[in-house]
Amino acid sequence: MTDRRDEIATNLAKVEERIAAACAAAGRRRDEVTLIVVTKTYPADDVRRLASLGVRHVAENRDQDAAPKAAACSDLSLSWHFVGQLQTNKVRSVVGYADVVQSVDRARLVTALSREAERAGREVGCLLQVALDAGEGGRGERGGVAPGGVGELAARVADAPGLRLDGLMTVAPLTGEYAGRQQAAFERLMDVSAGLRRDHPAATMVSAGMSADLEQAVAAGATHVRVGTAVLGVRPVLR
Ligand SMILES: *Cc1c(COP(=O)(O)O)cnc(C)c1O
Repeated sequence: MTDRRDEIATNLAKVEERIAAACAAAGRRRDEVTLIVVTKTYPADDVRRLASLGVRHVAENRDQDAAPKAAACSDLSLSWHFVGQLQTNKVRSVVGYADVVQSVDRARLVTALSREAERAGREVGCLLQVALDAGEGGRGERGGVAPGGVGELAARVADAPGLRLDGLMTVAPLTGEYAGRQQAAFERLMDVSAGLRRDHPAATMVSAGMSADLEQAVAAGATHVRVGTAVLGVRPVLR
């Protein structure tokens, strides 16, 4: 138990150092970037250890795992982010614990999130997941809306009761013109964000960067990085 806490503490310190160095290199203040620890596949005990070490934001990508974990940790003051592809039949459950859904990528999902948020009497923060590997108007390999579809989807979220439009999220593409070019991908996301903020000035969140590419995300201007492996270790292979 304590060994695991020490291991996480050491990893967290290393990640903190990387973020601080990336901020310094980019001429940004450290408090412009928020660390979200991705706890998927790791147990609720690890979430407790993270909270005791000062982590305030955690993320999950599968409702089946996230729902019981969030319930087991409901006494902790944590913000829960949902970052996985979301089916409408899971929305009611996700709205029960998620403060922010980062993977909003289609109108049907907006409708379902709004209905369940209203029903639960909650306000749910929404990030539009942008697919930089999608054709215009299409969807990405791992979900996400093409940059050309952001304006219309943003308007829907902004008009939806129970939802708050917070900004954008992306995962660096493995295919297409941005494959292997994380920094260029994140800079493109910042352009899309600038366009979004013209119509929705409060939608300032830009969630980009994971264990392998958080430096590039901070350099491009990300406000949130989502780090799993570098804090908790290499995950067991998913079923
Ligand atoms: C798993 C995951 C991460 C974290 O990835 P690591 O490489 O483990 O840091 C970030 N974002 C999303 C959407 C994820 O699914």
